[in-house]
Amino acid sequence: MPERDAAGAAEPSLLLDLTAPTSHLVQARLQFTPPQQRLVLRLPAWTPGSYLIRDYVSRLEGLEVVQGGRRVALERLEVAAWVAELPDRSPVEARWRILATEPSVRTCELGGDHGFLALAGVALLVEGLRWQPHRLELRLPPGWHPFLPLPPDEEGGWRAADYDALIDTPVEAGPHPCHSFSVAGVPHRWVTRGGDLPASDPAWLAEVERVCLACCRLMGVEAPASPSYLFIQQLPEQGYGGLEHDHASVLVYGRTALARPEGRRKLLQLVAHEYLHQWNVRRLRPAPLSPIDYDRPTIVPTLWFAEGVTSYLDTLLPFAAGLGTEAELLDDLGADLSRYRLTPGRRVQSLRESSQEAWVKLYRADSHAADNQVSYYLKGAVVALVLDLHLRRHGSWLGAVLQRLWHSHGRWRRGYGEDDLRRAFTAQAPDLDGLLDAWLTGTDDPDLEGYLADVGLRMEADVCRHADAGWQVEATAAGLQLRRVRRDGPAQRAGLQVGDELLALDGRRLRREDDLQLPPGLGGAPPEPLEVLFCRDGRVRHCRLQPAPPQVERWRLVADPEAPAAALERRRRWESLEP
Ligand SMILES: [Zn+2]
Repeated sequence: MPERDAAGAAEPSLLLDLTAPTSHLVQARLQFTPPQQRLVLRLPAWTPGSYLIRDYVSRLEGLEVVQGGRRVALERLEVAAWVAELPDRSPVEARWRILATEPSVRTCELGGDHGFLALAGVALLVEGLRWQPHRLELRLPPGWHPFLPLPPDEEGGWRAADYDALIDTPVEAGPHPCHSFSVAGVPHRWVTRGGDLPASDPAWLAEVERVCLACCRLMGVEAPASPSYLFIQQLPEQGYGGLEHDHASVLVYGRTALARPEGRRKLLQLVAHEYLHQWNVRRLRPAPLSPIDYDRPTIVPTLWFAEGVTSYLDTLLPFAAGLGTEAELLDDLGADLSRYRLTPGRRVQSLRESSQEAWVKLYRADSHAADNQVSYYLKGAVVALVLDLHLRRHGSWLGAVLQRLWHSHGRWRRGYGEDDLRRAFTAQAPDLDGLLDAWLTGTDDPDLEGYLADVGLRMEADVCRHADAGWQVEATAAGLQLRRVRRDGPAQRAGLQVGDELLALDGRRLRREDDLQLPPGLGGAPPEPLEVLFCRDGRVRHCRLQPAPPQVERWRLVADPEAPAAALERRRRWESLEP
């Protein structure tokens, strides 16, 4: 039975029935004592950690509210909110269904193999009860087990401290294997859907534990912030994603990607990323997300710190834990730096704007995104690298800033603002005051080469062997289609646009992507202009394209063989996340 408070009111109790998995319908029932006669029910529009309005209500059906055996008339207040005038405050039961057919870390999927629920898309909030404890109960098909990070109660259910803690609970259910291990004495579980990684890879959990301990060291703490922790791993054939929670991570990682040589290493980086979020963003939380407004987008100008700093550190953490080689580390860091330098949108959108515009830019990236935006993950990681190396010039490091913020804000769950961040950085290096502002609000690159030289590294360019047309092409069933046309590049100047189907170059029929490799121009002469035959909107057209000389196609991060011993020592400390 649900617990009753002094006034005799039952805490909200949510029952989720997954016993008809092939229907893909989750049957939900919420029992509660209404806090007032005007009853308002709401379903969140988004889930924390994933900054896109998802309108979860689109999957909700059959909502009804019953009091004393009688149906209550509901009025639609907003697209995801309902209101009812109740005759009294006697217990109420709400029932509804959720169509769970979207596999991802932030949506719901129920099928014959398993169920995964992001509760923001399932659990209705009773206005006035947000900060009350909530109870959760699950009904599962025979042979299925529940995996969720809430503490169990004595009646076979679970208890969440409040509605926010409930929403922060990922629920996985199925006949999955689950492995236990501990990190600094704190119990951890690893459950896999679609495989059993710890069984097939006996070193796996020991390596995860080392990465978790490296996160604790980085934060300057003895043990993880959570008293217990759950990793939920989904291993579909394809897919990638992670979502952080206070007491859990959900990791989606394709089996195809895992089979690649770098697959295991990249998965460990994903583990490091989500685990570090236990501090950075979950408990050390931006002020605009304290508390969270589930109904509308929230502008968070410091998302670059939440995601960029975490992305930068997730590459270093496994290496700092003694896993992987330096060559692999430089490859991975170099790949990020290369992607950054090859993103023209970094000249259009600042890092602060990118953070503020997450809802409408990064999460809605299209074929033009590379030209008008830069990811706050990507540029955030570049700025984090530069900040780390700048702080090291002052005898400090990025870990010191994180630890300071953890002590001033995170451990008290006090939201931090932009000024708090600035203060935490300038306390370690006063000259960051102006520099940080320039890196956050400007669109010029930081002095990457200068900072890399501090640790005996430099960037080297790989130049393409072919002339540049300024397009990216995708081979589709319909033919070779333009997937991207670079702003102000040769293809755009010739009048081509995304979606055009390329038919022939200089009278030569195009069939494969290889047919598009353009001669570079001989002896330093500009490449020859080309006659392009293409199809748009069912009509065949032609244009004349003047290719540009070959462009840089990739930047690599390499060790400078001439670097002095002091730089090598700095590199060793930096790579190992040592102060
Ligand atoms: Zn993240």
